[in-house]
Amino acid sequence: MSDLLLGRVLSFTADPFVAGPEAARLDEAVLLQGGRIAAVGGAQALRAAHPGARVTDYGARLISAGFVDAHVHYPQTAMIASWGKRLIDWLNLYTFPEEMRFADADYAANVAGRYLDLTLANGTTSVCSYCTIHPGSVDALMLAAQARGQRIWAGKTCMDRNAPEGLRDTAQTGHDQSAALLARWHGVDRLSYVITPRFSPTSTPEQLEAMGALWAANPGCLMQTHLSEQLDEIAWVKGLFPQARDYLDTYESFGLLGHGGLYGHAIHLEPREKDRLREMDASLIHCPTSNTFIGSGLFDMGGLKAAGHRVGLATDTGGGSSFSMLRTMAAAYEVGQLRGRALHPAELWWLATQGSARSLLADERIGNIAPGLEADLVVIDLGSTPAIAQATARAETLWQALFPTVMMGDDRAIHAVWIGGRLRG
Ligand SMILES: [Zn+2]
Repeated sequence: MSDLLLGRVLSFTADPFVAGPEAARLDEAVLLQGGRIAAVGGAQALRAAHPGARVTDYGARLISAGFVDAHVHYPQTAMIASWGKRLIDWLNLYTFPEEMRFADADYAANVAGRYLDLTLANGTTSVCSYCTIHPGSVDALMLAAQARGQRIWAGKTCMDRNAPEGLRDTAQTGHDQSAALLARWHGVDRLSYVITPRFSPTSTPEQLEAMGALWAANPGCLMQTHLSEQLDEIAWVKGLFPQARDYLDTYESFGLLGHGGLYGHAIHLEPREKDRLREMDASLIHCPTSNTFIGSGLFDMGGLKAAGHRVGLATDTGGGSSFSMLRTMAAAYEVGQLRGRALHPAELWWLATQGSARSLLADERIGNIAPGLEADLVVIDLGSTPAIAQATARAETLWQALFPTVMMGDDRAIHAVWIGGRLRG
């Protein structure tokens, strides 16, 4: 059985930060077969070539690759939008007590399912998530994603210091539990394991070394952590690692800097850190709603992309204030404006799809609409509210029609979601 979807099919032939908005292309139809995208092109030609295909006509709606959220904490779903704290206090007051509850497998399963349903309702088909210190929190998310047929990445968050009793492992148990989860889940269906030290302040040098050894033994895995989010945090890292040249060095010296390394936030980078991250072709993950919500600072998208960095986009739920990649694009635009660089809608959309997929080294599987890629798609209504509809009424270009949805859209703009070639609700 094949499906032929008609609509305004948006894809990218290149990175618009390099090639300009012309990197985007519009087609009339996309053919899905066996869970993958089989063809993209004109409606008439594809109809004629595939007379047996089931046709769904989405009219003037936009058909895009599903959104890819490159940095989330699914266990923070229930504490999203917690008021009034900056990073360290926010972790201690809100995050750690909530993460403690994931010792209960039923609670973890409940939140994992709720989280994936909330993100799917917002058009996000793939996520890369931190779990908690409990191995069961990884099992819960993997099982929930497996049941939904989703491609996701997830890992047990390792911490062996500066976290409360009940949320600490050790260098040895952190390593061994991660290795067991990796063996259980990595490469099963569409699931991937990610080696996940939370960040330098909550890991001893011994734990960072053990995580580095695990990554060296499993170079096909991604590794995720946090880097240079707040100035207080950077000062704390300096005190904890007096020998380190800078924050990045606390990862680099333990084998935790490399291609396939994902560094969340990366706001206050030193020149040496930028150089090393670029030399290693590591991935920087921009989390704009989180950076404004927690008061962290303004990511230098323009400068880092111009210098050739690999950059993904993410909500950072629940430090981020939304499950929506539309809202996240809007925040990236606002942060860009505050840094003097107005990101083009093509750049924003690319970041939320192919850019994030590239940051996860998965752009040959997901994040775009092209033959051979997995058929994870979102269908967008470009007039989903009266405010958006009246703003797009006079649009003469695709970007004029799209930008009000980027800035003001939410889950009401998500008309349909396809996962692995199957329509979801
Ligand atoms: Zn985070």
